[in-house]
Amino acid sequence: MTLHIPFDNSYARLPDRFYARLDPVPVGAPGLIALNDALAVDMGLDPEALRSPEGIAMFAGNLVPPGAQPLAQAYAGHQFGGFTPQLGDGRAILLGEVLSPEGQRWDMQLKGAGRTPFSRMGDGRNWIGPVLREYILSEAMHALGVPTTRALAAVTTGETVYRERALPGAVLTRVAPSHIRVGTFQFFAVRQDEEALRLLADHAIARHFPEAQSPADLLRAAVAGQARLVAQWMALGFIHGVMNTDNSHVGGITIDYGPCAFMDVYHPEKVFSSIDQQGRYAYANQPQIAVWNMAQFATCLLPLMGDRDAAVEEATAIVHGFADLYQAEWLARFRAKLGLATAQDGDLALIDLLLTRMAQGQADFTRVFRGLAEGTARDEFLDRAAFDAWHAQWMARLESEGRPLPQAQEAMRRINPAIIPRNHRVEEAIAAALEGDYAPFEQLHAALRNPFDPAPGAEPLRVAPMPDEVVQRTFC
Ligand code: AMP
Ligand code: MG
Ligand code: MG
Repeated sequence: MTLHIPFDNSYARLPDRFYARLDPVPVGAPGLIALNDALAVDMGLDPEALRSPEGIAMFAGNLVPPGAQPLAQAYAGHQFGGFTPQLGDGRAILLGEVLSPEGQRWDMQLKGAGRTPFSRMGDGRNWIGPVLREYILSEAMHALGVPTTRALAAVTTGETVYRERALPGAVLTRVAPSHIRVGTFQFFAVRQDEEALRLLADHAIARHFPEAQSPADLLRAAVAGQARLVAQWMALGFIHGVMNTDNSHVGGITIDYGPCAFMDVYHPEKVFSSIDQQGRYAYANQPQIAVWNMAQFATCLLPLMGDRDAAVEEATAIVHGFADLYQAEWLARFRAKLGLATAQDGDLALIDLLLTRMAQGQADFTRVFRGLAEGTARDEFLDRAAFDAWHAQWMARLESEGRPLPQAQEAMRRINPAIIPRNHRVEEAIAAALEGDYAPFEQLHAALRNPFDPAPGAEPLRVAPMPDEVVQRTFC
């Protein structure tokens, strides 16, 4: 069997200073962990061919298929607010762009494919923990309806990776409509390379916002995309964990599943990331951080926006527009979570009061909203009287719409997931995989394909962690 992949590598046609060309570093003994058949088919690829020894060799970096032009992308970035002029793909290699029969363009990137000129002190490798984590989380995110990078395949390398201890190496094949970050623009902006900025802006427009006519339009679209994306995260209790500008995608998709998490118990100041000591990327801070990242993006685009003073004024107005866009997206989503089909003045107060009661009552985010749709939310609160008072307000508000409760609840079950990738389940799947048992991983990611309408067998995944199962910290 020969691997035929329809590559068309538009990024590789950009000038040399956008990347470093190099092949993945081969590994000892590639072995398939998982292949995403449905995604392969969407990409116009043959799952059988991808499952063949050649396909597995490609996913491990041992075979560069015809038409691929492997490269590591250059980018910069603000990490926790501090600027680094050169980051880049230190442990990832873009094989190329797959052009599907429908004309959709997909970056195919191997994460953990060996050292690159951007590796700095790192080994360029990955181990099965982060690989399974990203596979589970990114595919769950997709099933939840949130724009995201995808996971096409996960393979073991047969090699050992050293972190605090010796761990089995693995490579994730990440697939995305592009890997263009705010940090990619910053790389050229800090070098005052206006030509590159212009080429990159045109490239980003072509790939994400073909209707955009100008850099200002690109900024406007990116701001709207981030507002929508972060509102979606908030409505699911998702905390990205590392919203650095190099992890902020200009196309409005979730990228870089490091120390991220879906909250169990709701609290606005919740932080999971082991590297976020100050709580910069806490749940409730995410919208403000997204604006800050968009301000950095705007700064990069200024040289392309004509007369300096007018450009600053226009860019500022666009970035300030985030607040209204975000508020509208957030309200729309939380209204829908409460089964409200219309907009009324008191809605914000009603939603805020519920969230306050949830924080006070140490209530589980996912279980409360799903519970409202199933009549079991009350059980989630420590202080049931406080919940009852809110519930009476909610009932009155629903009645004002005249829609029968069962009908509202049916709509709510299509937007409030029953199952999410809870940390303790993800950790459990990784621990089992380390022992050679991939069954928990298989079960978890299979169940998460239907988060709104889970199979009866997925019932245990709806349960919140017991006190001794709670995961407080997540790692890169
Ligand atoms: P991240 O925290 O995943 O956003 O990564 C930040 C930067 O560190 C990026 O430039 C990565 O390519 C680089 N990096 C992270 N882990 C490694 C590694 N094991 N080897 C080389 N570079 C790495
Ligand atoms: Mg990153
Ligand atoms: Mg990362």
